[in-house]
Amino acid sequence: MDLKECIRLIPNYPKEGILFKDITPLLKNSDALQYTIKQMVKFCENKQPDIVVGPESRGFIFGTPLAYELGAGFVPVRKPGKLPAEVERVEYELEYGTDALEIHKDSIMPGQKVVICDDLLATGGTVQSAIQLIEKLGGEVVGICFLIELTFLNGADKLKGYDVQSLIKY
Ligand code: AMP
Repeated sequence: MDLKECIRLIPNYPKEGILFKDITPLLKNSDALQYTIKQMVKFCENKQPDIVVGPESRGFIFGTPLAYELGAGFVPVRKPGKLPAEVERVEYELEYGTDALEIHKDSIMPGQKVVICDDLLATGGTVQSAIQLIEKLGGEVVGICFLIELTFLNGADKLKGYDVQSLIKY
């Protein structure tokens, strides 16, 4: 199945010069959605993760069904101020200024195996921060899966040493 056909390209969104990869045509296509989750499950199955971590917000969409299929739990990584209990936080550089991500401190136990799942790998800043959060809690990142990878941004360079899969590459 050619998943690329289900991605809509929107020029200059959310700002000038960005070619936005709109995943909503894939999400509403039952065959494409099922195929996507099945491919992610295939990649993760032998890693036997305890937890799937999904970064806000499109990581929630793919991460939760993936966790369900694997018999793992799902843990969200969120923007600051969204998680109600005690959090671990990392800050990361943006083009201008910094941003931060948070995870509940009690969401991963030391030694648990974790898969990270997100819609898209661009610069890799988001997933790198998620890795830092998981490792701070003592989790072991055993795999990282994306629907889409923008190879020209070289985000994968930040993920050397990790087992990474992306289903669609640009
Ligand atoms: P990054 O931290 O640079 O790897 O960016 C990752 C996040 O930004 C992804 O989870 C996407 O949700 C979003 N993103 C970045 N670039 C694009 C794009 N061209 N189209 C759609 N989403 C994007």
